[in-house]
Amino acid sequence: MTTRSCPCGLPEPYEKCCGRFLAGTAAAPTAEALMRSRYTAFVRLDAAYLLRTWHPRTRPARLDLDPGTRWAGLEVLDTTGGSAFHSTGTVTFRASYRGGALHERSRFERVDGAWVYVDGEFLA
Ligand SMILES: [Zn+2]
Repeated sequence: MTTRSCPCGLPEPYEKCCGRFLAGTAAAPTAEALMRSRYTAFVRLDAAYLLRTWHPRTRPARLDLDPGTRWAGLEVLDTTGGSAFHSTGTVTFRASYRGGALHERSRFERVDGAWVYVDGEFLA
């Protein structure tokens, strides 16, 4: 039996990595872990997970994911805050897809103890 590593780029198998967060059996302990799990949710077209990990203040009413997007990998470039000792954090990353890449600095906050995505700023 072969186990595939998680789409977020960490060597762990999906079930032991982002799978726990998407399934709701565990909460992402850091802003980076949440960001990685949200990338995985984009890969797996899990709009419900993306919406429930979005800050209520900035969350869209609905989210239509494009099944034609071929995600090709995630690179986390920088993080600030976002640990167990913080209530806010940022994650700078590059998410590649066939034909391009998204370079963004995302902001995260804790709501009732759980990390959620607030918004992001595109970088050149
Ligand atoms: Zn993962």
